[in-house]
Amino acid sequence: MQKIEHIGIAVKDINRSNNLFESLFGKAHYKIEDVESEGVKTSFFQCGPNKIELLEATDKDSPIAKFIEKKGEGIHHIAFAVDDIESEIKRLSNEGFEMIHNKPKKGADNKLIAFLHPKATNGVLIELCQEIAK
Ligand code: ZN
Repeated sequence: MQKIEHIGIAVKDINRSNNLFESLFGKAHYKIEDVESEGVKTSFFQCGPNKIELLEATDKDSPIAKFIEKKGEGIHHIAFAVDDIESEIKRLSNEGFEMIHNKPKKGADNKLIAFLHPKATNGVLIELCQEIAK
């Protein structure tokens, strides 16, 4: 695993939060993207070397809707960059970590992603992400 690729923050209203984080960072988001398979709308901010992803649920059964229902808005996950997501999934499974996704899936911002189960990681939801070669 490599550097933190981004931190994901669950929000109720992405337009309102875009304004809030724009004021906070002093610059606008650089991208908005719907990830239909996950039932979320995402927006991305680049802040120095760091990337922040805001996530709003687009349907009431999406993981983000359930998260906000249970815990309210806030930090949802930490994503780590990996070179080879398939071998990293294999390595972590062999270490005994429970994966939510045993196979990488297409995520936002041109990435292959897979989540670990937070039960296995002290309640921290961890995302692996690998840049898709263009
Ligand atoms: Zn993410």
